[in-house]
Amino acid sequence: MNDTAVITGGSRGIGLAISRELASAGFRLAVIYAGRKESAEQAAEELRAAGTDTEIYACDVADTEGIRAVSEEILRRFGRVDVLVNNAGISLIRLFTDTTAEDWDRMMDVNVKGLYNTCSAFLPQMISRKRGRIINISSMWGVSGASCEVAYSASKAAVIGFTKALAKEVGPSGITVNCVAPGVIDTEMNAGLDDETREGLISEIPLDRIGSPSDVAGMVSFLASEKASYITGQIIGVDGGIL
Ligand code: NDP
Repeated sequence: MNDTAVITGGSRGIGLAISRELASAGFRLAVIYAGRKESAEQAAEELRAAGTDTEIYACDVADTEGIRAVSEEILRRFGRVDVLVNNAGISLIRLFTDTTAEDWDRMMDVNVKGLYNTCSAFLPQMISRKRGRIINISSMWGVSGASCEVAYSASKAAVIGFTKALAKEVGPSGITVNCVAPGVIDTEMNAGLDDETREGLISEIPLDRIGSPSDVAGMVSFLASEKASYITGQIIGVDGGIL
């Protein structure tokens, strides 16, 4: 298979699990990361060693011109992009009254404008080929809202609205757009949670454990596969039943 997947934030955490899963499904990979070069190089080395054609690109998804330039590089290198996984994201745990306008803008720039940037860059060639899959990573907090995470929750709710609207617009062009809303997943993003908070969260999860990045990656891989060709505009929770 010569299909190519672009995964933003595909070098660490949930994104790395998605990279591994799509690699084992036979995709060629273009991984975009923010700046932690060592993790990205390590990920690329692992994926290449397993036989996957992989390139890594350092670019802030919030940078419209940067993403445009990277997309041109990716299209030159791979010829086409079949799957776009918008996984890169940032979080912020802060009282709303302590949240600054700068905090707010950065959250929206990365978690929402990032989707505008990548989709604007990769959609035209998907539309002209009448083929493509876009998979956006939201969060259960985008569905339910989290105290002390108003900016994050609002940004992830925007990802859901974005998914539903774009799915309607590009469905006639043969492109599906879906969204995965993970619950609490064991990555560096949650490394700051103290034991009491972790235990408190686990006690609310019917499946009685924090999720692993591969729990999310399995769903993304399914949505990228032929088996999901009649599914679009969906928000799929991978949260151990917490919601
Ligand atoms: P991590 O912080 O572990 O990894 C983030 C990845 O995204 C890294 O590869 C990082 O690159 C990249 N990244 C971050 N900001 C940017 C940026 N501005 N431009 C380009 N790349 C960027 O995150 P997780 O794996 O935990 O989360 C992945 C996604 O899942 C996020 O959208 C998050 O909101 C969502 N999510 C996570 C949950 C969780 O419990 N962990 C729960 C629900 C949703 P680099 O290494 O260079 O910094």
